[in-house]
Amino acid sequence: MIPPRKTRQIQVGPIRVGGEAPIAVQSMAATRTQDVAATRRQVELLQEAGADLVRIAIDSPKDAEALQEVARGFEVPLSVDLQENYRMAELVAPLVQKIRYNPGHLHHHEKGKSVEEKVRWIVETARSNDCAIRIGVNAGSVAPDYKERFGADHVGAIVACAVDHCALLDGLDFVDYVVSIKDSDPRLVVDANSAFAEARPDVPIHLGVTEAGMPPEGIIKTRIAFEQLLARGIGDTLRVSLTVPFEDKGQEIAVGREILADVENGRFRSVPPNFFDGLNIIACPSCSRVENERFIDLAEDVKRMTEFAAEHELTIAVMGCRVNGPGETDDADLGLWCGPKTVNLKRGERLVGNFTYDEILPRLKGELDELIAKKG
Ligand code: SF4
Repeated sequence: MIPPRKTRQIQVGPIRVGGEAPIAVQSMAATRTQDVAATRRQVELLQEAGADLVRIAIDSPKDAEALQEVARGFEVPLSVDLQENYRMAELVAPLVQKIRYNPGHLHHHEKGKSVEEKVRWIVETARSNDCAIRIGVNAGSVAPDYKERFGADHVGAIVACAVDHCALLDGLDFVDYVVSIKDSDPRLVVDANSAFAEARPDVPIHLGVTEAGMPPEGIIKTRIAFEQLLARGIGDTLRVSLTVPFEDKGQEIAVGREILADVENGRFRSVPPNFFDGLNIIACPSCSRVENERFIDLAEDVKRMTEFAAEHELTIAVMGCRVNGPGETDDADLGLWCGPKTVNLKRGERLVGNFTYDEILPRLKGELDELIAKKG
């Protein structure tokens, strides 16, 4: 049921991605990269689960130093996720097979340099270390100039950004790249990836629904997008993002393979038309920026505590760090993001305050009750 894909084939270490190559299933370490033992355990778990590629986030020289230990001795190819500090690429490229950069994060450092200069530098670093690249566009961190140009047209902004970055890499004669365009809403993931595939049918695509949250909803959201896209011949590699305990991360690979096998065999699962009605909880899958492992328990507690509000049209976002948390919760009615000892709570654009892990649930419930009363 998966039509032949027309994308070009690229090499990522020992694996091929794109064209007639099998669709690669990948995932990412959810732990702090500097916690070498925990991150090695993540890679081990994902490798045992059958991952084709494992990604690790890097944002500082200390992360890069830790990667030297983390990366040692694994068969599974590794990719690094450059968060805001793109200059880390030169420290980590010799250790991995692929580099992901987010066009929406290139403006944070070295503000005097143009995006084109920074991309050229990343490309030359990848080329000289035999690394592939992923241009990873995320709806939660759209580059400011695209936000300004496209206003409320989120899909237009993220697709244009991806297409423009492909042109930059093409102009540098670099072909070993894939593109991802992710959103937490699977319907927008379908729209954006379909539009991108039409604009650039030659470029391999990495599929994902970001911040899909906890099972089973996180799996259903992901399945909705993957079924639609894979059945149209869109998608050369995929990642399922789930908010699950670190020891259960292998589940992301198992679910990815299951969805893939189902689509290949024509086993589609429909969802009722009201699936998107009511309370929507989005939660990040955690990464090296997570500041307190209690984040996963908190996300589960939020889900349980808010069951009483299931029929209300509200979105609650639960994020694992203070860096991306504020931005990633922008579109939610209530947003939480976790620090080492406290959790920030936002209602719409207003910061309600900063509460301990023991205080946060009652405070969230208070805000939720008020919102429900206000909405009538
Ligand atoms: S919100 Fe923070 S911890 Fe969660 S995935 Fe994003 S960067 Fe990582």
